[in-house]
Amino acid sequence: MMTASTEVVEKASCRNCGREFIGKPYRFGGGAWFPKTMEAVPVNYFGGYVCSRGCDVQVCLNMLSSMPGAGRATSLDSGCETSVARNWS
Ligand SMILES: [Zn+2]
Repeated sequence: MMTASTEVVEKASCRNCGREFIGKPYRFGGGAWFPKTMEAVPVNYFGGYVCSRGCDVQVCLNMLSSMPGAGRATSLDSGCETSVARNWS
């Protein structure tokens, strides 16, 4: 029987595609960085790290679509739009 620690080494990862970054998972705070460039990883409007503009937009659309009474979102609301523009300018 395995007696290895049950503690899982968690990494920061893209909320949309799962790409891993340097740093701890978003809920632990502290920031995350792209492994190659060491640039800070942007945070989505709804929380969570995102690796690209496309992933940022997708997370927003998923979240907007999951809101009570909302249909499937096909465009960003103003809050998301501002956040995406700021993250990837
Ligand atoms: Zn991603």
